[in-house]
Formats: sequence, structure tokens, C-alpha cells
Amino acid sequence: MAIRNIVKDGDPILKKTCRKVEAFDEKLGELIDDMIETMRESNGAGLAAPQVGFLKQVCVVEADDSKPPVELVNPEIIAEDEEQFGMEGCLSFPGQYGLVRRPRIVTVRAQDRHGNWFETTGEDLEARAFMHEVDHLNGVTFTSLAERMLSPEELVSGDIPELKTDEEGEE
Ligand code: ZN
Repeated sequence: MAIRNIVKDGDPILKKTCRKVEAFDEKLGELIDDMIETMRESNGAGLAAPQVGFLKQVCVVEADDSKPPVELVNPEIIAEDEEQFGMEGCLSFPGQYGLVRRPRIVTVRAQDRHGNWFETTGEDLEARAFMHEVDHLNGVTFTSLAERMLSPEELVSGDIPELKTDEEGEE
């Protein structure tokens, strides 16, 4: 396994559409293993193949402690429910965060590294990660979906008006 370089904001590969995976071979398994290692090394909740330089429909998500990392090959979002609004970032946009509205519950259908189809449902952060990573495979980054990006001052203070609730101060 190896840590791969993560491409950063401004690299045209982040705007391109990925190709479907047709060969479920050893190379695919290696790419997935490396992506998991690279995601963990960077403390990310997910990583998509274009972020490590491959225009293939492959992404990994690790956002629910009770599950092993989810490997998604040729994924499609098949159901979305409820709504969440919050801060979102990306390993390709270090230090940048925006406010993004996403469904709170998301079901994705995908193949594993051997080509077997499966479905999995995620909530909250995992649902957000499924949407974020599948967007990457279509050349869409969170920066184009954010209602607004946060300022450095807001990131330091944590004082973000849209995320304040009436119950502030209560545990
Ligand atoms: Zn990302």
C-alpha cells in the first residue's frame, strides 16, 4: 500500500467526469487500498479517484465508526431523504470550508472491488460524504454547491451565524 498525492484546487482533473470501471482487477484493488490509506493519513471522511489523479468512478468513505470503510465503484445515489445544513470541506481544498445543504439520509448503489453490486445507506456525516464523493466523480466540487464559503476569521472563532441555534448555551 502507498500514500498517493492528493491533487489540489486549480487542477483541471477536479472538473472532469470519470469513466466507468470495467476491469475489476488487481490494479483496482491496489488503487482502493491506497485511497483508503491516503484518506486516513489525511484524516478525511472520504476520497475520490480524481483526487489522486485517476478519472475512474471509484471513491471511498469512512465516516461511520461502526462500519469498515465503504468502497464504492461505479456508484449511483438511489435515494435521498430529509435535509442537513452544515460545514463541509475537502482534502483537495485544504483550509477551505463552506456551508452546504445536503440530504441527511442517502442510499447509494455501487459495486465492490470484485464487481459485486450492493446498496448501503448512510446518515448525517456519512450521507454528506456519499454525496460529496459521488459529486467528485461528476467533476463537481463542494465549492460550487456551497451557499457561501467561510472566512478565516469565522473558522478561527467558530462564530458562524447560520449555524447558531436558539438553544445556544444548553448542553
Ligand atoms: Zn472532496
